[in-house]
Parts: sequence; C-alpha cells; structure tokens
Amino acid sequence: MLDLASRNIKYLPGVGEQRASLLERELNIRSLYDLLYYFPYRYVDRSRIFTVAELTGNMPHVQLCGEIRSFEEMGEGASHRLVAHFTDGTGFVDLVWFRGLKYLKSRYKVGTKYVIFGKPAVFNGRVNIAHPDIDDAETLQLSSMGLQPYYNTTEKMKRSGLNSQAMAKLLANLFNMIGNSGINETLTAEILHKHRLMPLNDALRIIHLPKNTRELREAEYRLKFDELFYIQLSILHYAKDRMQKYVGHRFAKVGEMFNRFYNEKLPFELTGAQKRVVKEIRRDVGSNHQMNRLLQGDVGSGKTLVALLSMLLAVDNGYQACLMAPTEILAEQHAATLRRMLDGLPVRVELLTGSTGKKARVPILEGLADGSVNILVGTHAVLEDNVQFCTLGFVVIDEQHRFGVVQRARMWAKNNIPPHILVMTATPIPRTLAMTLYGDLDVSVIDELPPGRKPISTQHVFRNRADEMYSFILCQLQQGRQVYVVYPLISESEKLDLKNLEEGYAMLCNKFCDYSIGKLHGRMKPKEKDEEMRRFASGETQMLVSTTVIEVGVDVPNATVMVIENAERFGLSQLHQLRGRVGRGGNQSYCLLVTDYKMSDDTRKRMEIMTSSNDGFEIAEADLKLRGPGDMEGTQQSGIAFDLKIANLARDEQLLQYVRDIAREIVEADPQCNNPAYRVIWERLRAIKKNNNWNWGAIS
Ligand code: ADP
Ligand code: MG
Repeated sequence: MLDLASRNIKYLPGVGEQRASLLERELNIRSLYDLLYYFPYRYVDRSRIFTVAELTGNMPHVQLCGEIRSFEEMGEGASHRLVAHFTDGTGFVDLVWFRGLKYLKSRYKVGTKYVIFGKPAVFNGRVNIAHPDIDDAETLQLSSMGLQPYYNTTEKMKRSGLNSQAMAKLLANLFNMIGNSGINETLTAEILHKHRLMPLNDALRIIHLPKNTRELREAEYRLKFDELFYIQLSILHYAKDRMQKYVGHRFAKVGEMFNRFYNEKLPFELTGAQKRVVKEIRRDVGSNHQMNRLLQGDVGSGKTLVALLSMLLAVDNGYQACLMAPTEILAEQHAATLRRMLDGLPVRVELLTGSTGKKARVPILEGLADGSVNILVGTHAVLEDNVQFCTLGFVVIDEQHRFGVVQRARMWAKNNIPPHILVMTATPIPRTLAMTLYGDLDVSVIDELPPGRKPISTQHVFRNRADEMYSFILCQLQQGRQVYVVYPLISESEKLDLKNLEEGYAMLCNKFCDYSIGKLHGRMKPKEKDEEMRRFASGETQMLVSTTVIEVGVDVPNATVMVIENAERFGLSQLHQLRGRVGRGGNQSYCLLVTDYKMSDDTRKRMEIMTSSNDGFEIAEADLKLRGPGDMEGTQQSGIAFDLKIANLARDEQLLQYVRDIAREIVEADPQCNNPAYRVIWERLRAIKKNNNWNWGAIS
C-alpha cells in the first residue's frame, strides 16, 4: 500500500516541481496525504438544467443550456466589460465578464451550443450571470455528473491554472494512483460496525466525488467522526499519561492560616459556587495527583478569593505559592489585595515584575530560595531562570488567555515534582472549545455572582445620538462617579489608532472641561501606564480615555460607565470583558456601545446579544457561532492552529461529546496502549503526531 504521507506531491501526474511549490506555499499541501485531505468547500448539483425563463436574482448556482447570439463591449475603466447575449429559447440572459475580454471573445463562438454555469443576479431589471463557467455541450457528459465539488484556490493558483477544476483533476489522478490497493483504515472494525460508519476508503472517495447528497452526508459524518475522535484521543491519552507519570504534592491538612483567614479576615460569606470550587480544589490537592484545573468564572465572580484560599492551603502545608498575572498593573493590584486581606497574618507576600529594581530583587530572591516568601505575585518576570523557589507547590495563572502554553511549561520545570496548577479565566470558553483547548484539564465553574450586584445596564447608542449620551455621562460625573471611554485598535498602523484616540480625548476634554481626564494606550511606557491607572483608581482623574489595555482584570469600583466607541470593531468576548470593568461597586453601572447608524448584520446581532445578556457563557457560545473557533479570542493567542479539516466546533458539539466518550473508554481500557484490539488506533495516533506536529494534548 502506498505511504501517502511520505510521498511528495510533486510525483503526482499533473503536478511537477512548479505546481508542487505553489501548492505548498498557498495551501500547505506537501504530500499526497495532504491533497487527499484537502476537501471541497461546497458541492453543486449539476444534474439539473434550468431554463432562462425560470431565473430570478436570488437563486444559487444554476446550469443553463443554449447559445450566445452576440457579444458587446460596454462601459469605461473599471466597469469596462464584455456582455454575451445568451438564450435557450425561453428568454435572454446576459453573461458578463470584467476580465480577460479578448481571450473570451476569441474562445467562445456565436451559435455554438454551450452549457453555462453560474449564479444569476439582477441588475437594472435584467438577469445576468457574471463570470460563468462555460462548457461545450457536446463534450460535457451531463448524465454522468452528480454533485460537482468546488475547491478553494487562491488568486496565485488560479493565475497558474490551478483552479477548482484543476484541483478536481489532480484528485482524480490521485485516486487512479491509489487504485485498488485502497487507503489504510483508521478505525477498528468494531467501531465502524457499532457506530455505523462507512470505511475510510469509501468516505474519502465520496467526499471528493459524491454521487448524491445522501452518501455525501454519510461520508462527511465518517470523516468528522475520525477527526474529532483522534483529537480527543490524543488529549485524553496525554492526560492519562501525565497522571501515571507524575505524583503530586499532597496537601494533607487545612491549617492555621487558612482557618484564621477564613474565620477572622474574610469580610463576607463565600458564595455557594466559591465554596464548591474550593472543595474541588481541596479534593485534588489532597490526593496524590498533580492538579491541573481550569477555573472559569465570569468577570467579578470572585476568582481572586478562591485563588487566595488555595494558596493558603499550600502555605499551611509548608509549600510556596505563586500567582501570575498577564500585566504589571494586574500583578500590583493582586499583590495589594492579598496584602490587605492577609493583614495581620504571618504570611509573606512579595511582588516581582519587570520593573522591580535590581536592589529590590535581592531580598525577594533570597526569600524565595530560603522559603521565607510564602506567596509570590508576579508577571512573566517570575519565569526567569534566576527565580528559584524553595518548595513551590501551587501556581495560579490569572487570565489564562494572555499566557502561552510555553510559559506554563516553564513553571513546571521549577521543581522536581510539578506544582499544582490552577488556571483562571474570565473569558468563558464554550464547551466544545474547552474540550479541545483544555480537554485534559479538569474544569471548575463559578456560575454565581456575589450577592447585591446590580446587573449592568447595556445600551446601544447611535453616533448621531451621542449628545444625549454625553449629558448622561455628565450626570454621572456630577454624582461623583467615574467613566471609561474605550477606543478600538482600528488599523494596522498604530499612528492612525492613536490619532483616533487623541481626537476623542481632545473632544472629551473640551466637553467635560471641569473634570480631569486621563489617557492610556499601548505605546506608553509601563511606568506611565501604571501612573495613569493609579490616578484613575485613586479618583484623581474622573474619566479615562483608553485603548483596550484596560481590558483585563482592573478593579475600580467607583467607575460606573463604560463607553465603547466603534463597538462594531470588537468581538463579543472582548466587549463583555470591557463591560466587566464597571459594575464592581454598589452603584448602578452602564455600558454604552456606540456605533454608526448603518451596521452590518453581524454587528447588529452582536449589539443585540450584548444588550440582552449579561452572561459570559451565553455570550461566548454566541461568539463561537458567529465567528467560528479560529477567530475566537483566546484561541489565537493560544498559538494553536484551528485548522480542522471538516468538523466544526460550533456545529458538531454533539458528535464531539459522543466521540470523546468513545475515546475515554479506549484510554481507560488500554492505558498501556498495547492491546492488539486497538493496534490500528494507537498506530494512527502515533502517525498523526509524527506527520502533523499535531499536539493537542500538550496544550495545558
Ligand atoms: P474576578 O473573578 O473578576 O477576578 P474578583 O476576584 O476581582 O473577581 O472579585 C470581584 C469583587 O467581588 C472583589 O471586590 C471581591 O472582593 C468581591 N467578592 C468576591 N467574593 C465575594 C463574596 N463572596 N461576597 C461579596 N463580595 C465578593
Ligand atoms: Mg480577576
């Protein structure tokens, strides 16, 4: 049998060196296997011929059979075009081309019978078809054509003749080459039978050349199953492996610091959800396994407190803990919060960031090494090699999506026995994504806000009604409240973005001249940013005009208004994060989303979702459906390419859960991966990992 993965695409008839390098550059297709798994993005039923009389402007692609009566060149400049008047006897339709006019005029003849294929549109009351496919009716064997596959190709490829049809031809050549020997099956006969799946060999042929919709659906199902199954198997296998390899620190007791804090210091009752999560963590760290837990909780749900209680558990058991934040501002806030809450208890908390001076570092590093520092709060700076702990037992990573996989791995390496890890995120992740991104982590959820919070009132404001908004803001300022105004990063050019922000800032300074207004953006030095943030937090400035740098975690309870300019430029999750900066104190808070009156459908939907829901999970689900997993916040930063070939995390949730259960059964049944009954499966998993650098499991 042909080893498709190791055979270079250039050896396929019809490819050669030049096309091979084009395929690699444009589509990342290197081997025969890559080509085989380059699936059509849609199919068109070419078995039916429509008549011109039937055409309307809102049909999908259609096929017509008839002849061109005459050609005509029309228009000037960009609208210069070639029009062919085409008829099948039931009426006329205009075929229109804007490019390649000379060639087309010489290529197609008046009076010859053609089959036309394209999408009808109505312009000036006449039906036309722009850039149709044209085939000679004589040479086209209509009856043999079922669903015709369409492949995505790039402009560069098209210019070299590698269009969709050419790709279809290459695939036909590939199937010829494979011949009767077939393609290696990737699932066991038992699984195929039990879950009614067609053999891989059939599925791959059908996905490229389906005869009808029914068999196409079956083939798609089989291939989605395969794809999702191996992702889940990889993740679960990795988690199992890690569980077997590593023992964890055991925090056997709940001790003095935890109890004293809980009884003497805690200013409020924990919410039910907080209690539940602390229990889950206690159970984990009390066992002999290393904990890897993801804590999801909406903005303001009180994750910091859960982190603190967990770290006190570590301290009580003789271990050090470390809390990592993505920005200096956040790290400082955390350190201040912890120190305030622990005031009077003998727990030493230190802060280490990039701007901790050389001199100040010395005692901190010493304290870490000799164990006298109990809790270290910091940024990426704590990852540096010279930061050595005495007995690091617990690591909390706040706002996970700003922290890469690599950094987490480095935290592990700081001890022989890896510390327990708690990853906290306020960007709720839809279940399907969580199962793939963090599939090997245990998940805790805080699904309850502390009592007494007033839901934030969110309103959509059209720019032409902005004056009313400014009167409202003035009202709030007069009551002593504070206001954020956020501008998006609109262009690639930072200069342009700053101009936007600067103009807004000048306008607001002018409008609200009785108040002090601060300004915050990514170009400022960390010191300046912190200073600006501190001034706002202390109330010296009443308004803060900013880019999204304030997005994560900042806590200014007196701020009650969040204005988001050009709200259409933000994703849902980001809007929700920004909104979470207000509503943190006792006063009613507001989020005002400003857009133009004219909006895309997509923007309208996002504004509707934001104004109707305060629930981060609901919003994340909606975001996934609107944008697809590749564009989700958090996935881009995670550095994982979400190039699923056929499954869709927004749509295939049920199937994902289904195959995850099957994968789990196999991992449980054969933890050593040596049962001959599963040989096909383990071999396939190894091959995937080897060929694609596909390492879903190692994400945590
Ligand atoms: P986040 O989950 O967004 O990190 P924080 O931990 O910053 O939320 O908590 C938000 C605010 O709620 C803080 O001011 C915190 O002191 C307060 N808080 C946390 N837990 C409770 C509780 N159980 N009851 C009342 N207030 C709480
Ligand atoms: Mg937080």
